[in-house]
Amino acid sequence: MDCQVLIVGGGPAGSPAGKVLAENDISTIIVDKAKFPRDKVCAGGLMFHTFIDFPYIKQFIENYNFAAKIYSPSLKFKLNLFSESKKEPLMAMTSGRKDFDYNLIKLAKKAGCELWEENKAEKIEIDTNKATTYLQNGEKIVSQIIIGADSVHSIVNKIPNLQNKWARDDMGLAIEENIQLGKKTMDNIYTKERCVHLFLHYNDLPGYAWIFPRKESVNIGIGTLVKLGSRMREQYFKFLNVLKGNNLIPEEIQSKKFKAALVPLSLPLNNCYSDRTLLVGDAAGFVSAITGEGIYYAMSSAKAAAETCIQALKEYKFNAKIMSTFKKIWKKNISKELKLQYFAKNWV
Ligand SMILES: Cc1cc2nc3c(=O)[nH]c(=O)nc-3n(C[C@H](O)[C@H](O)[C@H](O)COP(=O)(O)OP(=O)(O)OC[C@H]3O[C@@H](n4cnc5c(N)ncnc54)[C@H](O)[C@@H]3O)c2cc1C
Repeated sequence: MDCQVLIVGGGPAGSPAGKVLAENDISTIIVDKAKFPRDKVCAGGLMFHTFIDFPYIKQFIENYNFAAKIYSPSLKFKLNLFSESKKEPLMAMTSGRKDFDYNLIKLAKKAGCELWEENKAEKIEIDTNKATTYLQNGEKIVSQIIIGADSVHSIVNKIPNLQNKWARDDMGLAIEENIQLGKKTMDNIYTKERCVHLFLHYNDLPGYAWIFPRKESVNIGIGTLVKLGSRMREQYFKFLNVLKGNNLIPEEIQSKKFKAALVPLSLPLNNCYSDRTLLVGDAAGFVSAITGEGIYYAMSSAKAAAETCIQALKEYKFNAKIMSTFKKIWKKNISKELKLQYFAKNWV
């Protein structure tokens, strides 16, 4: 065996799993096709539950958001929200996924997890006595268990016992851009509370558009369903004009480098484990179907996967039955809230 657990993907699903496993003296390798620090299309917002379950990430927060305005589709009505205490902000912003993911991967490495960067996993084979991952460069890695933390187009999901397909109705598409404004402008428009602005059903699209203020920049974006997102680019430019018209961004702002990506808005996949295999994060649909929040659920599913691997290695059993411990753990921890959000998404 080259390692006990191989993790494909070093995002917020992969690296926390690597950290927990290495801390428990389990030999672990993360392979990622990218070289870190690498960017990821994401607004980088975190909700409060993330700090409760993973307090160590507080060190990677750029700023907290203590107020929010939620607009009706016509923009005529708005709901003002304020956090009741400085100790409980409504939201927090990472300094961006490039830094955040790099910091998480550094923690995994510090714990003893190996990182093989610029190594794309191309094929996985599961036998009765091992799991083999074939890399693009011709090398292979043999492990007891494989964790697929490789997002919506997961290569791990392609093994014969998994092969989940995403329903088109459950796939989201979101576009985002970070725009530098400087502290003075930020204080003027978004106040020291760094007020978040949310536009429900923007332009009658299911989903929402957002402004998430950071210290000196804003993240602006729109999220909807893939099947309705054919003209996202135009929608985004129109949205910027609406924001300018409402003095929510300065008139002179030009869009420079917006990016779009898929985000699964399903329930977590039922078929998220098999012999020697687990799927976590976006690869298994651990995302809020209403808000598109996926970082917390990636980290939470990663923790459940790591606990399952520890158990399996202790018992030296790697069949689907022992791997089903994973589902029991996440069902207990996050299933209720994800289900509620999935069924409520039709009304939001
Ligand atoms: C526009 C947008 C805005 C968003 N905003 C937020 C937000 O504000 N807050 C929030 O909580 N969530 C947000 N999300 C969702 C969030 O980005 C994801 O849920 C989260 O990144 C999932 O983490 P992950 O580790 O599962 O996947 P990823 O972060 O996508 O990481 C997967 C990793 O796997 C690697 N990989 C993939 N395939 C292979 C392969 N074959 N071999 C080797 N490596 C591979 C990739 O290089 C990558 O590093 C947003 C999503 C979008 C699209």
